Amino acid sequence: MKILETTKAFQAWRVKLNAKAAYLGVTGGTSVGIVPTMGALHEGHRSLLKRARIENDFVVLTLFVNPTQFNQASDLEKYPKTLEADVRLAEATGVDAVFIPRDSEEMYPDTYRYQVSEKEFSKELCGASRPGHFEGMLTVVLKLLNLAGADRAYFGEKDFQQLTLIRGMAEAFFLPTAIVGCPTVREEDGLAMSSRNLRLTPAERKIAPLLHAALTGASDLNQARIKIENAGFKIDYLEDRRSKDGELRRFVAAYLGEVRLIDNVVVGVRV
Ligand code: AMP
Repeated sequence: MKILETTKAFQAWRVKLNAKAAYLGVTGGTSVGIVPTMGALHEGHRSLLKRARIENDFVVLTLFVNPTQFNQASDLEKYPKTLEADVRLAEATGVDAVFIPRDSEEMYPDTYRYQVSEKEFSKELCGASRPGHFEGMLTVVLKLLNLAGADRAYFGEKDFQQLTLIRGMAEAFFLPTAIVGCPTVREEDGLAMSSRNLRLTPAERKIAPLLHAALTGASDLNQARIKIENAGFKIDYLEDRRSKDGELRRFVAAYLGEVRLIDNVVVGVRV
């Protein structure tokens, strides 16, 4: 497994794959699947890597805690880091290359002068309380997909708003990369796996699954709100949204102590 620390090394790795395919006479080149992450990997990330492993000739994992998508310095500082374990997990899952930019200048040689923005959905839900978050996320995802020359890119439904915006960007900019959405992986008690769960105290960890239980077990939004607040969460937003294909999804972001948790579930389908 290759460890790549610069954008130049990443691009050179990609070019070499094509050259190798041409040398071997492989028609259509070699396919590359990318799994962008911020590290502190868990089974949710691993499910994306496994899917990418099945569907592509080469799999690249990226580990980069992207500063432009954090709107609070303290949140960025406290983001969990488990680099050695992440590299071990990647190796054990059959990843071919891991891109770990050595610093943020590597990703932002223009000092973030050029940015991707979206005018509507990115301002709602998580975008309403985290200004600039989705611009930072979309910008770094576009850079990573381009560096990888990716045929497919894998994202979790756990961050459904993010997945929707990435799909929209890929369509708007005619990106050659297929965006693949993967189901949310949960702990046995229903809590959506998240790197941020590492920051919960033992007492908070016991309460945390009540967020998912309230999403799935309430008859309506109001009842869900009461359940979530009674469990001790401070709600940032709780909303139902219908997608273009008629699926009704319930979205929540709520604070448990200092930790902001998000989740979403399908609550109905239009027939
Ligand atoms: P992150 O490292 O949190 O930025 O996440 C990297 C990717 O993993 C994103 O596409 C997330 O949606 C996805 N992901 C995170 N948690 C989960 C989960 N519990 N199940 C499935 N995918 C996840």
